[in-house]
Amino acid sequence: MTNEEILKWYEIACAFHTKRAPGLAIGVAMVDLCRTRLGPVKEKLNAISESPSCLCDVIQLMTGCTMGNRYVKAYRELGRFALTLYDRADGRGVRAYIDLDKISASETPELHKFFLRQRSDAVKAGGEERLKSGELVVEEFLKVRDKIIALQEVYIEKFGKSEMLPATRCKTCQESFLRRGAEEECASCSGELKYYRLA
Ligand SMILES: [Zn+2]
Repeated sequence: MTNEEILKWYEIACAFHTKRAPGLAIGVAMVDLCRTRLGPVKEKLNAISESPSCLCDVIQLMTGCTMGNRYVKAYRELGRFALTLYDRADGRGVRAYIDLDKISASETPELHKFFLRQRSDAVKAGGEERLKSGELVVEEFLKVRDKIIALQEVYIEKFGKSEMLPATRCKTCQESFLRRGAEEECASCSGELKYYRLA
């Protein structure tokens, strides 16, 4: 992809994400490199995002791997700015991550601060300063993108069609839910995932 194409996808991604974030432009380049290196897949392209943030949106937008069709998974506990695209048929994949050692603090200072989470307090506070910094991060990134994105050829440990859990009726709320074991109550009623109270 050319820088112009990346910027075009960046705008589409910002609209989808409903805010401007430099990680989206970086993610676009990462997805593109991964897909090119992976080449054609035998079955379905699947994806893993190692963070629940920007990358997940870029993957969904560019690859058609969505939360809804369950072709993308987000490992939020990992919290790394990295992603893997792979073939569901055999688990063959390519992982893209950022090689921090390749980011020069003098050549691309804002990008360096972005990845080390060292942008100024004014930037962290948001607003105009944050937007300006974000665009600068993208500008600097486009100069060095192929140098700082690292690719690894990998095999996914657990791949294939994700299993569909059987549905059953919760004995408390009477709603249908996807059962993970022998439980008779949904995770809301059991308290394990209770996230609301009635108004
Ligand atoms: Zn229930």
